Amino acid sequence: KPKSPPDFLKDLNEQQRRAASHTHGPLLIVAGAGSGKTRVLTYRIAYLLQQHHALPKQILALTFTNKAAREMQERIQNLIGEKASGLWMGTFHSIFSKILRFEAEKIGFDSNFSIYDTTDSQNAIKLILKELNYDPREIKPKTIHRKISDAKNQLILPGAYQSRFVHSTLDDITAKIYEIYQIRLMQANAMDFDDLLIRPVQLFQEHPDVLEKYQDRFKHILIDEYQDTNHAQYKVTKLLADKYENICVVGDDAQSIYSFRGADIANILNFKNDYEDATEVPLEQNYRSTKYILQCADSVIKQNEKQIEKTLWTDNDEGDTVTLLENFDERDEANRVVNHINNLKLQHGYQNNDFAILYRTNYQSRIFEEALRRKGIAYQLVGGLSFYQRKEIKDVLSYLTLLVNPEDEQALLRIINEPSRGIGNKTLNDILKKARKERRKVWNIIQNVEEADLYKPAKAKIGEFVEMINNLRNELESGTSILQVTKKMMEQSGYMKALVEENSAQALTRRDNVLELQNAIAYFQQNNSNPNLANFLQEISLITDTDKYDEDKPAVTLMTVHASKGLEFPAVFIVGLEENLFPMGPRDGEEANTEEERRLFYVAITRAEKHLFFSFSKMRYRFGEEHRQARSRFLDEVDPGIVRTESGSTIRQKDRKNSSTNESSSYDQKIEYDWKQPLQSKNSKSSTGDFQYEYDDDPFHAGTHVMHPTFGPGKIIRRSG
Ligand code: ATP
Ligand code: MG
Repeated sequence: KPKSPPDFLKDLNEQQRRAASHTHGPLLIVAGAGSGKTRVLTYRIAYLLQQHHALPKQILALTFTNKAAREMQERIQNLIGEKASGLWMGTFHSIFSKILRFEAEKIGFDSNFSIYDTTDSQNAIKLILKELNYDPREIKPKTIHRKISDAKNQLILPGAYQSRFVHSTLDDITAKIYEIYQIRLMQANAMDFDDLLIRPVQLFQEHPDVLEKYQDRFKHILIDEYQDTNHAQYKVTKLLADKYENICVVGDDAQSIYSFRGADIANILNFKNDYEDATEVPLEQNYRSTKYILQCADSVIKQNEKQIEKTLWTDNDEGDTVTLLENFDERDEANRVVNHINNLKLQHGYQNNDFAILYRTNYQSRIFEEALRRKGIAYQLVGGLSFYQRKEIKDVLSYLTLLVNPEDEQALLRIINEPSRGIGNKTLNDILKKARKERRKVWNIIQNVEEADLYKPAKAKIGEFVEMINNLRNELESGTSILQVTKKMMEQSGYMKALVEENSAQALTRRDNVLELQNAIAYFQQNNSNPNLANFLQEISLITDTDKYDEDKPAVTLMTVHASKGLEFPAVFIVGLEENLFPMGPRDGEEANTEEERRLFYVAITRAEKHLFFSFSKMRYRFGEEHRQARSRFLDEVDPGIVRTESGSTIRQKDRKNSSTNESSSYDQKIEYDWKQPLQSKNSKSSTGDFQYEYDDDPFHAGTHVMHPTFGPGKIIRRSG
C-alpha cells in the first residue's frame, strides 16, 4: 500500500525529486558532475522501499566500488531505518560472483570456485605459452591476457575469436591460448575477473528458468556510473531487466574513462533504443563546486567532439580562481603543493582529509609522499601495489585457497614448494606433463601420488603435503575457526619458521605482514555472523583501489584520477599536467586517446569543491632519465580568464641551498624544515605571505607551536621526560 510521500524528498530539487519518485518503467538520467546522480539513486531506493513498491531483496543496485555501495546502504538506512537491510548492492563483480556461487553447478563449476586475479591469470597464461613452446619473454603473458580480456568484455568466446580476430600472428596465438586458458580455468574450478561478468550471461542464456528466477527476484535494477559499463555488463543487466523493465541508469558520458577496460559509451547512448518508453530526467544544478571550477570544467570538456548536450549551473559562490603552479622539476612541484596545503590549512582551518592530490599514474605518488613526510603531514595512498598483492600475502592466501578449492592450480603451484620442501621443478614439470597428457587435474594426480612414476623422495614429500592440506580442511569443516586453522597452517607448513630463520629485515617485514593478515581474518570473523573462508577470500579478491580510501582518516589523499571517480574534496591538486603524461601518449602498442584523456581531466577537475590547483614541471625524471617536459595541451584549453599562474623558481632545487640570491619564487624555501630538528613556528606571516619556521636553541617549552610528523600542527602544553 503506497503511503503519503516521505519527508526526505524535500532534500531534493524538483528534477531530482521527479527522478527519485519515478516508480515503474525504464529511467535514464544523463547529467553532469556533481548534479546529484548518486544522491538520486540513493533516494530513489529509499523511496521505493518506503512506499512499499519493493522489498529490499527485490532491489539490485550496481555501483562502481564496494565503498560506494556501503555508503549508499548507510544513507538509505539513515533515511528509512531498518527497512533497508537485505538490499543487493555492490559492484558488478561482487554481485555476480554471489549469484554464480548459487548457480555454479549449472555451468560446470563448483560453488567454491576460486577467483583468479590478474597475476594468477597471467601466470596461467605463461604456463600455457611455455607448454606450446613459445618464449614468454617474446610473447608477453600480459599482452595475451589483455587481448583475451578485451574479447571477453565484448562477449567473444574462444570459438568466435578465431573468426573475429585472426589477422596477425599474435591474434593467432591468442586464439589458441584463449581456448586452452578457458579449459584450464574450468579444470582449476576458477574464474577470472572477466568470467564473473560473462559466465552469468552464459548461465542466463543457457538456463531460461534460472534467468526468470532472477528476473522475478530483482524487480528493480539501478546502475550508477553507467557510462563505464562494458558490453558484458550491459548484456547481463539487459537480460535481467527484460521482464519488468524497471531499470534505472545514471551516468555522464563526459566522465567515461574506462574504455581501456572495454567500457562502451554506446550503452548509455542506446538506452532509449533499447527501452522505447524510457523516461528521461535531466539534472542541471551542480551542488559540489564553485562557479569558477564549473566554468573551468566546462571550458575543457567542450573541446571534445562527441558528447550529449547538457546544462550544468550552480548556485554556489564564484569562489577562488584556479591556480596554476609552474615548477622547475617534480621536487619543486611536490614542495609547492605541500606548501599550499599548509597555507590552506592555516587560512581556512582545513583538515588533512580535505585535500586530494590527483595524478595520472601511480608512480607519480612517490615524490609527494616524500614531501608530505618531510613536512610531517599524514597522507593515505590509495592504489598502487596492494597489501594483498605482496608475495607473502599471496602465498598465505594460496594456502587458504587450497582449503576451499584444492583444484586451484595456480594456488597449488605457488606454494607446493614454498617454503622449500624438496619438491623440485623437475618433479613439478613431470606432474604437469602427466596432468596434461591424461587430461587430469593436478590435484588429482598428487592425491594419488603413489601410482605416479616420480622421484621417490619427492613422492613422500608430496604425500605429506597433501595430508596436511586434507587434515586442515577437515578441521575447518568440523568448525575450527579460520584464524585457528590459518595459524596451524603457517606452523605446520613451516612457512613462519622459514621467515624467522631467514632473519633478514625483509623476512621480518614479511612475517609482520602475515601477522597483519591474521588480524584481517580476526576482524572478518568478528564482523560476520557466519564467517566462511570462501567469502573472506572472495571479499579480498574483489577489493577495488577506491575501496581503500577512508574519508574519515585525518590524512591527505593521494590517488590516480581513475580512482577518484565519484568522490569530492574541498581542495584538489591535479599534478603532472604535461604532454605524454597527462594526456598520456601512446603506449603498450595502444594509440593515444586524447578525448578519453580529456574526459579524465574533466573528472579530475570536477572532484573539487572550493579550491583547484593545476601543476606541471618543466623537468622530470622518467624511466631513470631527466626529461624536458612540455606543459599539457589541456592547460591551453582552460578558460584563461579564471586561471592565475604562479611561477616557481628557475633554480634547481639542489643548487638552492648555496644560493644566497633573493628567491624569485613567492615560495620561500625557508618553509622547508627537517622535523627531526628542533623548530618553532613563529606563527607570523613572512614578507612573501608564507608562514616561516625558524630554528631556536631549545624551542620545546610550553606554549610553543610545533609541527609533529604524525599529528600535524599543535601546541606544547607540558614537557616531561
Ligand atoms: P559525479 O558525477 O561526480 O558522480 P553526482 O552527479 O553523482 O556526481 P552527487 O555525488 O550525488 O553527484 O552529489 C554531489 C554533491 O552534491 C554531494 O555532496 C551531494 O550530497 C550534494 N547534493 C546533491 N543534490 C543536492 C541537493 N538537492 N541539496 C543539497 N546537496 C545536494
Ligand atoms: Mg556520482
